Amino acid sequence: MAIRYRCRHCNTEIGVLPFDSEESIRKLHQLSEQEAKEFIHHEQNGDTTVESICEHCENSLKKFPNYYALKNWLQ
Ligand SMILES: [Zn+2]
Repeated sequence: MAIRYRCRHCNTEIGVLPFDSEESIRKLHQLSEQEAKEFIHHEQNGDTTVESICEHCENSLKKFPNYYALKNWLQ
């Protein structure tokens, strides 16, 4: 089971990690069940996608902390 990480801001694919279950992702990121529903998506082709943030957007956020809507931020 491969999990794709995608940047929620610019839609870039960040990478693919070989997790065996959604449970493993939740533990790694310490997501609640509610957060998991929000950030982990099951695609029609069987893939699982996790919304995250790429290096580029993370750097932008550090430089311009008010540029993005913080309420949409993945903690
Ligand atoms: Zn990005």
